[in-house]
Amino acid sequence: MGRRNTTTRRQFLKFFPTTSIGLSLGSSVSAKASPGKYGKLHDTTKCIGCKRCISACKRWNKLKIDRDEELTDRETDLTGKTWVVVNLTRDKKNREDRHYQHWACQHCIKPACAGVCPVKAIKKLPEGPVVVDENKCIGCRYCYQACPYKVPRFDFEKRVTRKCTMCHDRIPRVKPACVAACPVEALDFGLKQEILTKARKRTEEVGGYLLGEHEAGGTDFLTVLSTTPEDLGLVVAPKKVVNRNLDKIRITSYGFMGASLLTGLMYMYSRTEEEQKEEEEEEKKE
Ligand code: SF4
Ligand code: SF4
Ligand code: SF4
Repeated sequence: MGRRNTTTRRQFLKFFPTTSIGLSLGSSVSAKASPGKYGKLHDTTKCIGCKRCISACKRWNKLKIDRDEELTDRETDLTGKTWVVVNLTRDKKNREDRHYQHWACQHCIKPACAGVCPVKAIKKLPEGPVVVDENKCIGCRYCYQACPYKVPRFDFEKRVTRKCTMCHDRIPRVKPACVAACPVEALDFGLKQEILTKARKRTEEVGGYLLGEHEAGGTDFLTVLSTTPEDLGLVVAPKKVVNRNLDKIRITSYGFMGASLLTGLMYMYSRTEEEQKEEEEEEKKE
């Protein structure tokens, strides 16, 4: 027969500060910066908005096809089953300047999403892709909160968060599905340094703006825009990944887990104490 647990609530509360300090220290670990070996490029000035990249992405990744989304020109958003969208952008200062933008995960060099995941389900691979391990994901959606572009989306059927993987299961031998499907070479894929050089040159040629060179600490998906993200009404990410904020989110996530654990343990120990009292009273009666 096992020994009966006789720890009192007071003894347990003495132990608790040590536990909470441990949880807080665990939360201060920051995500490491790892620039990818490969990169993806979208040139909005070449894109014709055909959306073949969306169909190719869905076919390769076995995602549910929404014909309406692919055939109409209405603005669409990322979802757990749509990892890339193509929307029309307009320059606020020059309404004639209209371009389609292929939008998906930016594959940040220092991904905020990975930094906050409490179960380390998101990883930046040395090749460049930032991927979610769906077997580890617990669906807490902290990655969505931390991402400056709100890219990772929850799949309500699979109960996990999903997003573009930069086709990590094809590259570098075969180009990402979207890149291979583009009929006008508005998408490109290759060694990151070469992609960056091409992107800078093209940005200069069109007198535009290179999105992703500095945003969110730099990303392995670059986009040549005709003008600044502000003028196009796009989400403007901070140039740096702000670790202070990440740590706050992480502390909240660990705090939540710690609080749940604490509540459970307190319940368990308070029962033990009550039981002890009952036993003592029974002994007195005898
Ligand atoms: S864009 Fe968002 S989801 Fe993609 S790597 Fe960066 S932080 Fe993560
Ligand atoms: S890189 Fe692959 S997963 Fe990402 S948008 Fe293109 S086809 Fe989809
Ligand atoms: S396939 Fe190429 S041209 Fe067509 S929408 Fe996608 S990026 Fe643009």
